[in-house]
Amino acid sequence: MSQDGAQDADAESVARLRAEIEELRLRLGEAEETIRAIRHGEVDAFVVAAGADADAEDDRVITLETAEHPYRRLVEAMHQAALTVAADGTILYANRAFARAVLRPSEAILGRPVGDLIAEAGRPTLAEVLARGAGARGEVLLLRGDGESLPVRVATGEPAGEGVACLIITDLTDQRRLAEVVAAETLSRSILEQAVDAIVVGDPGGTLIRAGVAVRRLCGRDPRGLGFDEAFPLIRRGGAAGSPFVLPISRVISGETVRGVEVSLTAAEGARGRDLDLLLSVGPLKDVEGIVVGFVATLTDVTELRRAEEALREADRRKDEFLATLAHELRNPLSAIANAARVARLAPDEASGRGWALDVVDRQGRQLAHLVDDLLDVSRISLGKIELRKEALDARVVVERAAQAVRPQLAAKSQALDLALDEGPLPVDADPTRLEQVLVNLLANASKYTDASGRIAIVARAEGGRATLRVEDDGIGIAPGDLGRIFELFGQVDDSIARSHGGLGIGLTLVRRLVELHGGDVAAESAGLGRGSAFTVRLPLAREAAEAPAPAVAAPPSRPPAGGRILLVDDNVDGVSGLARLLRERGFDVRTAHDGPAALAAAEADLPAVAVLDIGLPGMDGYELAARLRGRFGGRVALYAVSGYGREEDVRRAKQAGFDGYLVKPVDVDMLLQSLPTAAAPRAGR
Ligand code: ADP
Repeated sequence: MSQDGAQDADAESVARLRAEIEELRLRLGEAEETIRAIRHGEVDAFVVAAGADADAEDDRVITLETAEHPYRRLVEAMHQAALTVAADGTILYANRAFARAVLRPSEAILGRPVGDLIAEAGRPTLAEVLARGAGARGEVLLLRGDGESLPVRVATGEPAGEGVACLIITDLTDQRRLAEVVAAETLSRSILEQAVDAIVVGDPGGTLIRAGVAVRRLCGRDPRGLGFDEAFPLIRRGGAAGSPFVLPISRVISGETVRGVEVSLTAAEGARGRDLDLLLSVGPLKDVEGIVVGFVATLTDVTELRRAEEALREADRRKDEFLATLAHELRNPLSAIANAARVARLAPDEASGRGWALDVVDRQGRQLAHLVDDLLDVSRISLGKIELRKEALDARVVVERAAQAVRPQLAAKSQALDLALDEGPLPVDADPTRLEQVLVNLLANASKYTDASGRIAIVARAEGGRATLRVEDDGIGIAPGDLGRIFELFGQVDDSIARSHGGLGIGLTLVRRLVELHGGDVAAESAGLGRGSAFTVRLPLAREAAEAPAPAVAAPPSRPPAGGRILLVDDNVDGVSGLARLLRERGFDVRTAHDGPAALAAAEADLPAVAVLDIGLPGMDGYELAARLRGRFGGRVALYAVSGYGREEDVRRAKQAGFDGYLVKPVDVDMLLQSLPTAAAPRAGR
């Protein structure tokens, strides 16, 4: 090596040494600074790298236990858990409360990513809290060392340095438990307060400790602190009726239940002041371990239910009574008719005897028909199946018509009928037939409950915007106590009196319901027994006067031109032959048949203009017969249905089956003639 070469090499190594010295000096400076920082308490922990090829996770974080800052002591003494976390989520510091909370030693906490200690679902919350910085908070589950999880709130405090977050962690277990307790208490309170039934809870000694609003309403005071029997002086109903009910407290506490005992409670002062019917059930109250800690009693108010039951029983009783009355009312005209028939048979040639018998049959038959009509009407109204055919009319006209209708009945008892009608019209919007029915019922009652030669009056006038129709009599009168019930269905003042007058106790029910259907009302007055009665119907006056008042008496049916043939089909041979005779007398050509096939044959032989078919025929019924006649003869024959039922749906069904008209039994010859079309006119006008 040359000298120059040796000098160069020296210079190089001097330079390298200098550089090394410079670097060592820098490191020394850093180390001194670190030591100074440690000495001054500016460092809490340091990370010792595990080596170049080891995982960053194996780095060790060493906490400087000797760091004795006042804030550290404070943080360690804190009941709340606290952490400092590096920007990448590594836990730099955890206080003892945190270690206790997660049941892990500090070594297992420090240097780990904080996310590892949080249940997965909470990690986004944590990330958000960290990102939002000081003051942010969220709720997450901490994963404890024993595998359980702990509900906590994490909140960020002021940053503990550049990129170092400080987290304060609050255990929510107690708060949750408290919330659950509060919720349970709130629930039980609202059950007690809002239950419809009265619920009380008592202790094993029988003293009431909880009671809701329904209970306070029942006994008129707050029963807490009172014994059950003192708060509820109950009387037994049903079996051991009348004796006081004493709660068998010891039996209940030993596990027995008392179910649905019927008791009554005289409502205390401050309560609604009436006797209540209650259903009582009592059972033991157990805690979660099944130990009896008291009892629960429920009191259900069944007063209304009992009242409804009583009303049903009363209705049932009245129905039985009604059936007895009905049998009686039906038997009277039937036996009169049977007797009349015997008289006629005994004296076939004696005109006066026969005439008398026929009058009886006619009158009693009408009476029967009237009864049945009333019955059907009541049932139709009850079922809401009556349709009013309202029209603008003058109520005075209907009054006159009703007066005409009852004159024969009044004449039979030599009773006088006075009419006092307003001068001007009484325009009402009403169904003329139904309104007449109302007045006829009232007038017939007035006659029925007034002695022979008594006086009956109808006063019709406009009063306070209403048409007032008043029927007065000077008859037997009504006791004040009975005024209320005579309008009830089957309501009769006294069975013996009512029966002696005949009647079913439905007339006034019909009157009231029909009047109500018209938007009006009806009231009864009487000064007492023996002092006459007055019934007042009030209907709304129509604004405009009825333009053309209906004629006072219905016009007789126009007599159509001659030439009709009628086929009557009914399996009641007597009924149909009587009707056939009456029609023949009036000039009709009448054929009869008693079943479907015979009717078809008769129609085939001589096509009638009108066929009147009973619906309830044996075998082929009236509907089927009608369909066949229609199918065979089309519109050349008019079809009329006859049935015992006058219900709307029967009429509708008949229309659907192709009938042109519908008649309800018993079919009266005049009624039939009024309904028939001109095609069925008699051969010769009479
Ligand atoms: P019915 O006359 O068939 O018994 P109602 O319903 O027409 O039935 O009448 C009910 C009851 O009202 C009658 O039983 C009768 O006691 C009483 N009543 C009705 N109208 C009069 C009246 N004008 N005078 C006295 N009592 C009457």
